[in-house]
Amino acid sequence: MNATASPLGLCILPEPAPNAGRTVAYPHYIHEALDHAGLCYRDVPPETLDAALDHLAILVTVGDAVLPETTQEELRRWVAAGGVWIAVAGTGGLADLLGVTPEPPAYRSFGGGAGTLGEGYLAPRQADHPAVAHLRLPLHFFNGLPARPAGATVLASVLDAHQRETPRAALTERQIGQGRCLFLAADLPGTLVRIQQGVGVTRDGVSAPDGTAPVEDRVLKSGDGGVLDWIFDRQPVPGVPGLQAFLEPVADLWRELLLRSIFHGATVRGVALPLLWLYPRNLPALAHISHDTDGNDVELGWELLEVVNRAGVRTTWCVILPGYPPELTAAIRDAGHELAMHYDSMTPGLPWSQEQFVRQWEELVALFGGERPVTNKNHYLRWEGDTELFRWCLDQGIQLDQSKGASKTGEAGFNFGTCHPYFPVDFAGERLDVLELCTPTQDLEVFAPEALGPALMEAVLRSHGVLHLLFHPAHIRKPGVVQAIQTMVEGCRAAGMAWWTAREINAWERARRQVTWRDYGQAHGAAQVTLETPAALPEATVLWLAPEVQACQVNGEPQPVTRVRRWGHDFLAVTLEGRSGAAYTLTLE
Ligand SMILES: [Zn+2]
Repeated sequence: MNATASPLGLCILPEPAPNAGRTVAYPHYIHEALDHAGLCYRDVPPETLDAALDHLAILVTVGDAVLPETTQEELRRWVAAGGVWIAVAGTGGLADLLGVTPEPPAYRSFGGGAGTLGEGYLAPRQADHPAVAHLRLPLHFFNGLPARPAGATVLASVLDAHQRETPRAALTERQIGQGRCLFLAADLPGTLVRIQQGVGVTRDGVSAPDGTAPVEDRVLKSGDGGVLDWIFDRQPVPGVPGLQAFLEPVADLWRELLLRSIFHGATVRGVALPLLWLYPRNLPALAHISHDTDGNDVELGWELLEVVNRAGVRTTWCVILPGYPPELTAAIRDAGHELAMHYDSMTPGLPWSQEQFVRQWEELVALFGGERPVTNKNHYLRWEGDTELFRWCLDQGIQLDQSKGASKTGEAGFNFGTCHPYFPVDFAGERLDVLELCTPTQDLEVFAPEALGPALMEAVLRSHGVLHLLFHPAHIRKPGVVQAIQTMVEGCRAAGMAWWTAREINAWERARRQVTWRDYGQAHGAAQVTLETPAALPEATVLWLAPEVQACQVNGEPQPVTRVRRWGHDFLAVTLEGRSGAAYTLTLE
């Protein structure tokens, strides 16, 4: 969320020319992490960095370009005077200031260039440091800048792709005068993209070594492109001997590492930072149920409808052709549920093609009485190629897809590393305007044991994401399924989570992304900022990182506040009316 003024600046350094090696892929994707987190930050183009520094308290740089000499000198002066510099996968030519020494390639290669970190894991060494205190496992990364500590404190070190120790630093901190530098060796944006999207799918993936995820099955599906590690990135499911699942959302933990580093910097600088919280009413997380109507059995459809109506949750019905009879379709809609698309390229005769996708979309629109679906999930989580499906969605006005996820029990959990909706990118780095909300499990008690549910819920609460459960009407009569739905609905409610449809999640996230911040100012312990929201954001919550402050005014009126702990830091929470087109000036006292 870009701001005209903010103490937090983001500077993306120029990328090397094509064919040259690099330490960061998709550097601009860092925006996706900061925008989703709702941060108030300012874009600082590299050529304006010298002039901008004096208006910043915290600077995040992404990339490995060498800064001009004058900028290097300004940056040294600024840090010594109290600035906090967080350098991602590059030193800007100031390795000595960061307190690290980059490693050259082991052998001079044709084409040359900087050293590359390759695949590995960030292993915390100071586990109680705020930047890494949330990590329970070594964090999988893909590339970055290889560097050894040279004066900086090592907060985390690098394990190689086989989790062997290396002398390399993954995250360091160094105090200089009044300021400090943090150096993150890993390519954070490139790692997010690779984990969240996986690689393009042209062949089956490699099955798990324990037999629980046989993805080599002659069906191309999203999981075939997954890049997480069967051994290092899965954890035992509590109470279920033999079953490992992706219980830690690795990409979300990476985003959190960046946020925590920024909040740590703001705290040591005594700077107040506002952010637009993820959900209304300061909710800790969301929960969501989707259904795929495979088989379209009418009786089972009515039964599941009654179960979710009784539980009081509105759900997303991904309808596969030929769909339900009009009475059931109408009953689903009239109860407030979402009618969505279930693209079928699994049934013989239905190929993976845009033509098929469009044909099925048109027939579903007719079935829905002209209402255009907002959400799609592919039957069997089928997937081919790279980002083509997102383009098809864009062309039909589908705004949220759920086709990245687990289609084998041993893939369950966050096999794409995230429980948050995200905008994907293509190879050119262009952000595509379709949200992906991954599908981490299918029917509890059928696809995976019920014990997986609470384990996922706990992880979602920790990462403040969305718990997405999938229940097929076809399985509703199987033993334990109705009970599993009821248990999860009650459990999530008890944890303070709200149940939303995918359409609601989509609308909220898109409305959030439109807000702008302006007129940030801080003086004498007070801070002020104005938030403008073009779209309605009813009961939106703003969080202030401002440990000393106890009260907040909104447009000059005192407003009730609560204290809340998020991402390892204490925030002051203020909930706004959130009318469309409104501006809210928040003043801390
Ligand atoms: Zn299906």
